[in-house]
Amino acid sequence: DSLLYIVSTPIGNLGDMTPRAIEVLRQVDIIAAEDTRHSKRLMNHFGIDTPLTPCHDHNERHQAEMIIRRMQAGETVALISDAGTPLISDPGFYLVRSVREAGFRVVPVPGACAFIAALSVSGLPTDRFYFEGFLPAKGAGRRKRIESLAAFSNTWGVYESPHRIMELLDDLVTVLGSERYIALAREITKTFETILAGTVSEVQAILESDSNQQRGEFVVLVEGHKEKKDSEIGRDIEKMLQRLMVDLP
Ligand code: SAM
Repeated sequence: DSLLYIVSTPIGNLGDMTPRAIEVLRQVDIIAAEDTRHSKRLMNHFGIDTPLTPCHDHNERHQAEMIIRRMQAGETVALISDAGTPLISDPGFYLVRSVREAGFRVVPVPGACAFIAALSVSGLPTDRFYFEGFLPAKGAGRRKRIESLAAFSNTWGVYESPHRIMELLDDLVTVLGSERYIALAREITKTFETILAGTVSEVQAILESDSNQQRGEFVVLVEGHKEKKDSEIGRDIEKMLQRLMVDLP
């Protein structure tokens, strides 16, 4: 039977390539890869000489047709992305949908995923969570998305690239306030892996004081909004009154 395997690859540390991933990639007839040049290096490292074919956002529909034709002819196929689990902020949705609709089985070969790795060490609640993927690149659109998540009560998180990390932290302060608890996972499984957790302003201060901390790849996780209990609101009002009293003549 023809199958399509969705194969996870490492997000930095090559030791995270699973034995099953290597075996499947050796056995399939063809590997669809987001960037064949990038993946060629990984294949060489693991001694995999299966032919690669590109499958990215700009040719996915066309490639899906080709892949389905080959599967109808009895071939098995694997999909990989540049890093981590395909389809998670990576190409493959259209391919998986159409291969399933064509009646073939799609089989996961699980492994690294930056979001799940970050979540597992963040110290934030993990019983329920929401993955937002990449926020819009432009400031106004990005703040709007953050606003729509501001009252969400479970942990949520985004992927972010190094050149926008400081802007993202600024936007989090603007929309959520400086006291919201966040966790920032940088360069997971790589040499400079760093996990920072604290209020947005604490994390911001660390990045401001050390520009090396602004480099690399990031997962940013945000603690869900907590409804204040009546007793806490009472205390807030009391504090506010005390502050006002000081200013009164
Ligand atoms: N499919 C991948 C996965 O399963 O995690 C994600 C691909 S997405 C195009 C790339 C983004 O994932 C990066 O911009 C970064 O936010 C995050 N990412 C990937 N590798 C990472 C790492 N080693 N450490 C931190 N974040 C990483």
